[in-house]
Amino acid sequence: MTPILTEQQRALWHQLLPLGGGREGAIVITCHRGPDGDAVGSATALASWLRRHHPEADIHIVAPNIFPDFLKWIPGAEDILIYEGHEDEVRPIVEAADLVIMCDHGELKRMWTLGDIVRDHPTPRIMIDHHLDPEPDIADLVISHPELSSTCEVLLRVMLELDSNITRSEATSLYTGMMTDTGAFTYASNRPEIFELISILLSCGIDKDKIYRNIFFTYSPNRMKLMGYLLYVKLDVWKKAHTSVMTFTNAERRRFGALNGDTEGFVNMPLQILGMKLSVFLREDTEHPCIRVSLRSVDDFPCNEMAAEFFGGGGHKNAAGGEVWGTMDDALALVKKAVQKYMPLLKAE
Ligand code: 5GP
Ligand code: MN
Repeated sequence: MTPILTEQQRALWHQLLPLGGGREGAIVITCHRGPDGDAVGSATALASWLRRHHPEADIHIVAPNIFPDFLKWIPGAEDILIYEGHEDEVRPIVEAADLVIMCDHGELKRMWTLGDIVRDHPTPRIMIDHHLDPEPDIADLVISHPELSSTCEVLLRVMLELDSNITRSEATSLYTGMMTDTGAFTYASNRPEIFELISILLSCGIDKDKIYRNIFFTYSPNRMKLMGYLLYVKLDVWKKAHTSVMTFTNAERRRFGALNGDTEGFVNMPLQILGMKLSVFLREDTEHPCIRVSLRSVDDFPCNEMAAEFFGGGGHKNAAGGEVWGTMDDALALVKKAVQKYMPLLKAE
């Protein structure tokens, strides 16, 4: 496998770590808002790996907001500090950091207000990510590989290049991110190196079958019923555009007693319909007056371009997201406009 770290990046890594000066200093690892398997997986693996290499360092993981219950079993996830709702306790920890390492996002605004805290502090920063077009000058060391499946894949390769010794827990975290960002290796996963890396993780002792069950076989009765309801009542198929749209409101959230993360993955299901090219899932945010937009596609349809152009977001070719600051009707109107604009691509055989 060709190395992904350049000599310059490797030198910069060693310059930024350890922090020296008689003490190892404080490191804060962050991830994007709405942490997913790749965000939690990369942050926890990195924290564990750094703790082993820099035992004197004070290392914290800070997430901008809560993450879904089905990620809570990930080794080290129990130690993640949540910024939203605990600002007064967590802000001083971020402000005291000697180094901030950002995982799984290329823009500070994806951390919302936590991003402002990081931006306002003159602390050196490292970014480890796989999203297209990272924000210019986001970090002193930018390790960005949009061609790789996940931040966990990027991090695993960095770790292997710096020290091939990886623990079973770290391997478990890393496999989780690689698996969740590829829909259990059903998209963005045709590169042979991915399977070489999985082989290495298996040698570290991971139970990949159990990881799969921990992530995907965790429905509560309510979640299963909600899925049935959304597919039966809320799924709108726009046949000519090979597009499907599902909406989920806070009233429905209350009706089904849905918990944070309960709709995760539902956006992928309509792509199982023969001929479907694009699936759109619109979900009312629980804390802000906005609609979260999730886009998924097959083959060459560029979800990231649609997300950037219409929903102030981004992501990857087959999986992207963004927001609409308005009502569900506003969001639906925008989706119609976006689908209209992309109709030639959606209609093409
Ligand atoms: P999801 O639909 O699961 O929220 O997000 C799918 C993908 O799009 C993820 O890889 C995520 O990182 C990316 N994404 C989601 N929301 C945004 C956003 O607001 N901005 C950008 N740049 N990427 C996003
Ligand atoms: Mn990711």
